[in-house]
Amino acid sequence: MTPSLLITGGGRGIGAATARLAAQAGYAVGLSYRHDAQAAAEVVRGIEAAGGRALAVRADVGVDSDVERLFDAVQAEFGPLRGLVNNAGTLERQARVDEMDAARLHRVLTTNVIGAFLCAGAAVRRLSTRHGGAGGVIVNVSSRAAVLGSGGEYVDYAASKGAVDTLTVGLAREVAQESIRVCGVRPGLIETDIHALGGEPGRVARLASGVPLGRGGTAEEVARAILWLLSDNASYVTGTLLDVSGGR
Ligand code: NAP
Repeated sequence: MTPSLLITGGGRGIGAATARLAAQAGYAVGLSYRHDAQAAAEVVRGIEAAGGRALAVRADVGVDSDVERLFDAVQAEFGPLRGLVNNAGTLERQARVDEMDAARLHRVLTTNVIGAFLCAGAAVRRLSTRHGGAGGVIVNVSSRAAVLGSGGEYVDYAASKGAVDTLTVGLAREVAQESIRVCGVRPGLIETDIHALGGEPGRVARLASGVPLGRGGTAEEVARAILWLLSDNASYVTGTLLDVSGGR
């Protein structure tokens, strides 16, 4: 049977690149989006045109009922899940901590932290041998910001990714005996739309000279790392945070 994979935020950026690569690797791909139905439909069309299988579902990762509906829809279409890429993430306009209010912090943390926890939990309930599942892999998409801190830009976002790293390490230990591996990737400066959300679409170009490899990365370069972590080639890798950041 074709293995099935769920990628949150799979309509654009790193999630979309991962969806395309996963389909090429033989996964049936369920992908979620929050607003941009057109972008998600475009990814599905591209995968189907290449002979693959994909399904796009609107679901806000910060809402329990949306998450349950998302996982059920993907399993109803493609059968039991083999993996989750916990990729959906957001940030807000660049600001100092002394300018942030509770509403902003709730928005960032709800998507990046609560969303990652809800999706990880929904995946464990389906993958874990403890729940009658056949095992699988969860890859959490964190950020090098968790280490660098994003001072003067978005410390709230960076801190949310610190929480994602702790989720990866803790959950990996929690479910290691249940045939589930849990890993993280920490992308560096990657060319996607997310920088425009922060109010600086040219951010990667501004900072590229500070990257040891001398450039920003592509969504495909991150997707390749995710696909490796999902694969049996990474069978002894769990609780690991893999930096994909050109050395920065
Ligand atoms: P992006 O191009 O802005 O795409 C973000 C995706 O997440 C979109 O598909 C969006 O849905 C979805 N999304 C956002 N909030 C959501 C929510 N509450 N519920 C469901 N879906 C939601 O960003 P990206 O750069 O590919 O980022 C993907 C991941 O990589 C994020 O976790 C980000 O923090 C991380 N990352 C990115 C970089 C970078 O430099 N690009 C670096 C480090 C880490 P819609 O399409 O419907 O809006």
